[in-house]
Amino acid sequence: MMNNNVETREFQTEITQLLDIVINSLYTEREIFLRELISNAADATEKLRYCRLTENETCEAEQPLEIYIDTDEEAHTITITDNGIGMTHEDLIENLGTIAHSGSKEFIKQLTEYGKVGQGNTDLSLIGQFGVGFYSAFMVADTVTIYTRSFRPGSESWIWTSQGTGSYSIEPGDQTNYGTKIVLHLKENAYDFCKADEINRIIKQYSGFVPYPVKVNGEKVNTVQAIWTKNASEISDEEYTEFYKYIDNAYDEPLYRMHFTADAPLAIKALLFVPGENFERFGFSKMERGVNLYCKKVMIQEKSEAIVPEWMRFVRGVIDSDDLPLNISRETLQDNALIAKLNRVVTARFLKFLEEKAKDDAAKYNDFWRKFDKFLKEGAASDYTHCDALVRLLRYESNMTGEGELISLEDYVSRMRDEQKAIYYVSGANRQVIESGPYLEIFKDKGIEVLYTYEPIDDYILSNLPDFKGKKMIAAEQDSADLPDMPEEDNASASEIQGDELNEYLEWFKQTLGDRVTEVRASKRLVDSPAVVLSAYGTHSMQKMMQIVNKDLNNIPAGILEINSKHPVIKGINELRKSGDLFASAAAEQVLENSQIAAGLIIDPSSMVNRLYSILERAVEKKN
Ligand code: ADP
Ligand code: MG
Repeated sequence: MMNNNVETREFQTEITQLLDIVINSLYTEREIFLRELISNAADATEKLRYCRLTENETCEAEQPLEIYIDTDEEAHTITITDNGIGMTHEDLIENLGTIAHSGSKEFIKQLTEYGKVGQGNTDLSLIGQFGVGFYSAFMVADTVTIYTRSFRPGSESWIWTSQGTGSYSIEPGDQTNYGTKIVLHLKENAYDFCKADEINRIIKQYSGFVPYPVKVNGEKVNTVQAIWTKNASEISDEEYTEFYKYIDNAYDEPLYRMHFTADAPLAIKALLFVPGENFERFGFSKMERGVNLYCKKVMIQEKSEAIVPEWMRFVRGVIDSDDLPLNISRETLQDNALIAKLNRVVTARFLKFLEEKAKDDAAKYNDFWRKFDKFLKEGAASDYTHCDALVRLLRYESNMTGEGELISLEDYVSRMRDEQKAIYYVSGANRQVIESGPYLEIFKDKGIEVLYTYEPIDDYILSNLPDFKGKKMIAAEQDSADLPDMPEEDNASASEIQGDELNEYLEWFKQTLGDRVTEVRASKRLVDSPAVVLSAYGTHSMQKMMQIVNKDLNNIPAGILEINSKHPVIKGINELRKSGDLFASAAAEQVLENSQIAAGLIIDPSSMVNRLYSILERAVEKKN
């Protein structure tokens, strides 16, 4: 071509400003230029595919829908080639010399106003999302040359060149293929980018799911495709699993997978996995979020904290939405209303999915629950939006299940006794502790089901739940009028302490224990145990937390002490009291502390040990 065919043009002011920043940038993540150029190549390829489908365009000899990257360590160049729609002369001026989007202009204005990148809070990595990704090429290259030809039959070919300083030139080319080839002459400090290994690494990191083959120096590097955009029926189990392993660097098989597509109210494609194992429970540190956010197959944010709630951090996968605007920035993702809506919709869908899985295969769900219960409990305790759905997913053992057998609140309600108004639960470190403790007695006696809660968070969730299907939640250790009534005849057994004597005894008991209890009263709930302490805070785990926060144990009253007036120990102490034996006080104190221990509460061991010795002494003396 003759030199006089070269035409030189000025960039639009904003572009010159942008290039100024880009060229001088010390931005550390400049490797993102490759993501931008590959993403442009993929867009151009996608557009061509679309045109062929919809306009039935006749293209000259069909070229494969592939993207090629070639590196040359000697010439210090990297070349990105696509067989996409290509650009006409007019396209070049329009697309690479001017900026149409107001969002892009705003982005550039912010960049320039904040001065040097790195000082302001505007992030150059957003360049692609603001519709000016192409210019990131100038972070690594001092000359960029584009060879391009439109796919429309009869198009001419063009060469576009720029050093990124104010102007660019266009001249006719001699390319016969359609598509675009971009050659970057690397800056000296960017020579790393003509190494194939480095390029492979960057592609794996940012462009693993580009839906067209990407070949680096002839070798295909992206084996995993954007399978979430396909129909579930087109994807095999093996492909799903391969994808899961790829995104999570995982070696296990996923426990569940949910592939979900919606068009309204939002266009969503989500592919989520529950891993085979929960490593947090083995003492690994707190997991990072594992869901990546995409817009039209282009990654917007890896491990996005905005797209799923924190308790869903065990979930791995991809959420892709066509509705996301291009100009969404990482900083504003967190408080973007659309993202929040996506988050809500996908989370709700995921919970519904789990509920369905639990119905389909309870054994498998129970396996899931044993591994991941912590997360759902965390959600039920903290996520107000999805609380109802989360609560339906909770599982418990009870006095009517075998060890390891689990039921839901729904199961509980469905087999409740007709006259029963509430759902009862009792806490303890484990099944044995609960079953040997005093709280279960009345329920056992009356054949009422009680859920077992083994962790403080269980009590926290249940005690904060106003009701489930109209049934109140009641802790067995709670001082409550809602406990099932004991039948009358049980109340009046001949050998129990009664009337004035009982009142006197209770008063004495309270005086002896002082502020350590709020009340002492005769129990209707006890069968075999001498006494029980009812929580002042609704549940003992709450009380325990108060004790831990408040170092002085005696500052926290144990709650109400209920004594079993039919029990030999309680009757015996009454006899000692009546005979004026001071030993009665020590015995009464020990009854309280025994009840506290049975409740799993913390007591001061030193004073107890001394008291126990004096009690032992007395027992030994008696024998002699
Ligand atoms: P965006 O991709 O967000 O539109 P870019 O700055 O990355 O912004 O690219 C600007 C425009 O240049 C694109 O919209 C497209 O029209 C054109 N373009 C860039 N690369 C190519 C390519 N490889 N083939 C065809 N057109 C391209
Ligand atoms: Mg782009």
